[in-house]
Amino acid sequence: MNPDALIVGGGLAGSSAAYHLSSLGSVILLEQSAFPAQGASKQNAGMIRRMAAEPCDRALAQRTFHFLNEEAPLWDNPPSSQVTGAILGLVRDPLWLHNAVGHLRAHGVTIEATETNQIPAALKDAPLVAAWTLPEERVADAPSLVQAFLRKAKTQGASVHTGAHVQRLLIEEGQCVGVVTNDGPIYAGLVVLAGGAWCAHLAKKAGLHRPLIPLRRMVGVTALDPMATDTHPWCWLDDVGCYVRPKNGAWLACPCDETPVVPPTDFESMGEPTEKEWALLQGKLQRYFPSIARLGVTSGWTGLRTYTPDRKPLLGADPELPGLWWAAGLGGSGLSGCWGVGEALATWISGNETNWLDPAGLNPARKQLSRWPILPEGYPDHARLISGSY
Ligand SMILES: Cc1cc2nc3c(=O)[nH]c(=O)nc-3n(C[C@H](O)[C@H](O)[C@H](O)COP(=O)(O)OP(=O)(O)OC[C@H]3O[C@@H](n4cnc5c(N)ncnc54)[C@H](O)[C@@H]3O)c2cc1C
Repeated sequence: MNPDALIVGGGLAGSSAAYHLSSLGSVILLEQSAFPAQGASKQNAGMIRRMAAEPCDRALAQRTFHFLNEEAPLWDNPPSSQVTGAILGLVRDPLWLHNAVGHLRAHGVTIEATETNQIPAALKDAPLVAAWTLPEERVADAPSLVQAFLRKAKTQGASVHTGAHVQRLLIEEGQCVGVVTNDGPIYAGLVVLAGGAWCAHLAKKAGLHRPLIPLRRMVGVTALDPMATDTHPWCWLDDVGCYVRPKNGAWLACPCDETPVVPPTDFESMGEPTEKEWALLQGKLQRYFPSIARLGVTSGWTGLRTYTPDRKPLLGADPELPGLWWAAGLGGSGLSGCWGVGEALATWISGNETNWLDPAGLNPARKQLSRWPILPEGYPDHARLISGSY
């Protein structure tokens, strides 16, 4: 039987879409790998961050946060997530994120200026000029979230096909009517592109220019530390680009580097950090997290955060190809926003409106800059312009 919706990609975006859409009609999700959550969704640092710079990321994250707080605990086998609290610290610019603070406070999010006696262990001796405490913030395990979405989707009748490589979109009479996989064509009422770093390539084969550039980023793991308890808040210094988050008794640490790369044709997107990336992380930890730098970084990996030039997702119907929908370009916020992404998509597909997100701003065919800034070393004042697409 041809499904109502066919979803390409089994990461956070695709699995959330599968869960939400399977309550509306029949769904098939296609994932090229033998298991779901093999792309960015297994490479991330696990923070649910509502206080993002981009308002649409904040809106999407609010929905996910609400789901994790209220609904997920009621599910059988709920995804792994817990409240840790967060500190968003500032080293150079005490006014950084002030708009976000105002916006979120207006929506009832608790955000307090951090007093000196509330600075947590990870930030001991850090050169802070100001800091915000968000005591309700969470972490979540992305693969367990993907599994939870897919389990629920299956109970609602969805089929998940792994080892199913989508080679191209199937277009008839100017309409997207399905996809062609390694096993042949599958027709569907509509297709959702949720293939992360690889979406632009599929769109290009269909004659659509949708700039999506994967930016490689490293995450390091320190030696074990008794301070890295499960309830220690994650700490992010936005105005210099560096964060740490306790996990399994050590710290995940990131220098917020950005290196544009071509999506790997074999889908192997997890990599080894380079010497330069190790050195950048060590240098930043020494400068901004001296109490953690002394532990040393013992292992690490790199993963792909896939962005559009304006750093907003491609979410919703493609106006230039009826039948094609997008859930891509989630950048560094796809864990935080995953529930909202699937919810928005299902709401719009069913012809309804979301009063918390306007689809116009996320129109997949919106105009994009041909050159746009990235932050190679995570410092906001050291940008480099790159071209909008490959
Ligand atoms: C180092 C790092 C740290 C991060 N930290 C955080 C964080 O703390 N908080 C946060 O909110 N976000 C974070 N992120 C971002 C988050 O992980 C991503 O935004 C999110 O995982 C994107 O999910 P996705 O489903 O769009 O893409 P992916 O997880 O990459 O999934 C895409 C899937 O599509 C499949 N696919 C692609 N093409 C095809 C095809 N042709 N046929 C079949 N299958 C296909 C792929 O195999 C893959 O499984 C981080 C990312 C990285 C790399």
